[in-house]
Amino acid sequence: MRLPEFSGNRETVRSQGQVTISLITSLTLVCMVLVLAWGRANHNHEAELFDGNRLVAAASTELSQQGHVLTDTVNEMLSGRAATDAARNMFQDIFLIDLDGQAALRLPPFSSPGEFEFLRASVAEMLKTYRETAGSELRGGVGDERASGDEPAPAKTLSGRSSFLVVGDQGYALSIVSLSAAGKRALPLSGAESRALVVVGVREVRASVLSRIAYGSGVSTLSLSRTPSPDPSVSSVPVGLDGQPAFIEWRADKPGDRLLGNIGSMLVSFAALFAGLLAYRSTLKLADAEVTATKLAGQDALSGIANRLLFTRVLDTALAQVERGGRGFALLFIDLDRFKSVNDELGHDAGDKIIIAVAHRLQSKLRTTDLVARFGGDEFAILQSGVSTPADCEVLAERLLFALREPFDLNGEEIYLGGSIGVAICPRDSADRETLMRCADLALYNAKKGGRNRFAFFENALSEQVEIRRSIEEDLRIAVESGALELLYQPLVSIDGRKLLGVESLARWRHPTKGLIPPMEFIGMAEKRGLILQLGEWVLRRACEDARQWLDIKVAVNVSAIQFRHPGFVATVKRILHETGMEPSRLELELTESVIVDDADGAENAMFDLRAIGVRLALDDFGTGYSSLIYLRRFAFDKIKIDKSFLESMEATGESAIIVHSVVHLGRSLGLTVVAEGVETAEQHRFLQALGAHELQGYMFSRPVQAADISRICANGLVMPPARPMDQGDEEEPSLPLAGAA
Ligand code: C2E
Ligand code: CA
Ligand code: CA
Repeated sequence: MRLPEFSGNRETVRSQGQVTISLITSLTLVCMVLVLAWGRANHNHEAELFDGNRLVAAASTELSQQGHVLTDTVNEMLSGRAATDAARNMFQDIFLIDLDGQAALRLPPFSSPGEFEFLRASVAEMLKTYRETAGSELRGGVGDERASGDEPAPAKTLSGRSSFLVVGDQGYALSIVSLSAAGKRALPLSGAESRALVVVGVREVRASVLSRIAYGSGVSTLSLSRTPSPDPSVSSVPVGLDGQPAFIEWRADKPGDRLLGNIGSMLVSFAALFAGLLAYRSTLKLADAEVTATKLAGQDALSGIANRLLFTRVLDTALAQVERGGRGFALLFIDLDRFKSVNDELGHDAGDKIIIAVAHRLQSKLRTTDLVARFGGDEFAILQSGVSTPADCEVLAERLLFALREPFDLNGEEIYLGGSIGVAICPRDSADRETLMRCADLALYNAKKGGRNRFAFFENALSEQVEIRRSIEEDLRIAVESGALELLYQPLVSIDGRKLLGVESLARWRHPTKGLIPPMEFIGMAEKRGLILQLGEWVLRRACEDARQWLDIKVAVNVSAIQFRHPGFVATVKRILHETGMEPSRLELELTESVIVDDADGAENAMFDLRAIGVRLALDDFGTGYSSLIYLRRFAFDKIKIDKSFLESMEATGESAIIVHSVVHLGRSLGLTVVAEGVETAEQHRFLQALGAHELQGYMFSRPVQAADISRICANGLVMPPARPMDQGDEEEPSLPLAGAA
């Protein structure tokens, strides 16, 4: 049968969203680039200023030392001593001049007249300022710093005036210092003549000087030049005094560039990562969209055959044809017999492979006018067309059973499954979709009950049951929608049985004519009829509302697998917690393995979100499933509740006792709270006490009771009424509503 196709209009919405995202991304990028450019320039400029200041300071120190050496040298020499090596190495020329700049005396050994003639103009320039600022000194004061405060720092020395200057390619450092009084006296000159003399020292700036300045300022290399370099990558500061042409040039550290480089490479990495993520996300989205699309298109994502949605549409069409007088058809429900254990023992991947193989095998046994669908898990359905009597489909049912009995090859290993089939025929059994499906369901139930690996037809004898069930289901809908259910609470007590630690909420439905219907029955019905979400929400809200009066205890709520798997579940829990004001840490959700089995990843996410808001999680009915141990390790539960069936059979077979024993120890070693359910006798109580279970629950301590009864225990300081072992106590759960016990 050809699968009809469904299409959507999601493309336009998606592309609009993408345009907005691109716009925001581009604007963000432009802003980032501007900020980065500004940051880079700013950073570089500050670093340049910093370097410049340090260079000027280092150059100034150098000149200042030069001035001191010159003063000392000259005074020593005038006192008849020879020039020191330091002075000899430092200066190329030292001479005395008068204030008009006329050379008066060249001090030996610095006697190379005319050699520094080209510096005459520069010296005269410096001398002019020197004369102005150091007038008093020249009139007989002690040689000292007199420089004007406006000049660049480097040229001022303590003993006079010094400056760098560049002539041609050669740098010089000139110093003008005054003579000491003793020095002046030592000269063969009159007082007035000697007073008018100053000392000039000429020094060629060699590489060693530059490296000393570089070292003192933390700059790696520098040079002296006559004019500032036009190269923008070279920085310069003036180190010439009195208009002397001299600039120190260096390649400034550009931390802004480095920063930009770093940020740039970071951005590039981020961009690459982002792009990768986007690509990854869009692949995920694509995969997601594919799943949605295939679902919408009526395909089962795993096996590729039809899904429930498509099947019911086709079923409706077939029903409509029958109504118009067309030929009848058969509805076959198929359940695999050993699938759950295969899934648990060999893992989900193996389970998936089996499902795919089964789907193909079933498909291959059908005519093109028939349709097979997977309803979920290991449930399949077949619509066999052109059928009016059971004989028409017996052959097919046998063929399908045979096909399912054949081994499946799983990586070389032979897996035997088998299946059970329930058959309902339209219009013989019903021409109404719901009823027909219920018929097939009942037939399947009969087939399983009859020993599996067989098929069963819906029999008329079942039809009354179907009708009853239909009407009860209808009543349940009314009860759920009108909030006519009740909620009881069963205490969870401390290991000595004396203190109330928490309660488990248990739903009750009192049917108007059929009396109390057990939750095991109506919860299943609610799941089938799509009422479970509403029911579950009612229970959760009611439990949270009631819990507000019991400040010190935890309140557990059972969550059905369908409810838990619903995408809005976590949001519903949050909303109800918020609306009722219940602290999340006092809410405990009891989940069963079935919650996890079908969609482990989805369950893990929801559990993570719930734990994140502080809700506690308990694994209910522990030990009844197949792979509890694996789940315990993977999923973060706070508590395990050992199923009451173990305690029930403990007295009968010693085996259960061993299991309970090891489960308690396992739970304890995993740091979980271990609860034993269904404690009925003093012996069970003693046994659990000895094992070290943490909490107990059972008829021995209390049956499920009304909220008011729990309030009474809370008011009594959480002290439980004395325990009454089942073998001595009553058998009945308190009638509803419970008229205030004790
Ligand atoms: P459960 O979660 O395992 O709940 C414990 C069941 O054990 C309750 O049965 C409780 O009355 C019964 N029980 C407690 N102590 C003893 C004892 O000492 N001996 C015996 N024999 N039984 C004891 P109940 O109330 O009939 O509930 C049956 C199941 O129905 C629950 O099993 C739970 O799976 C489900 N259920 C009940 N209320 C809700 C609900 O609000 N939501 C959902 N999703 N499921 C519910
Ligand atoms: Ca429970
Ligand atoms: Ca349980």
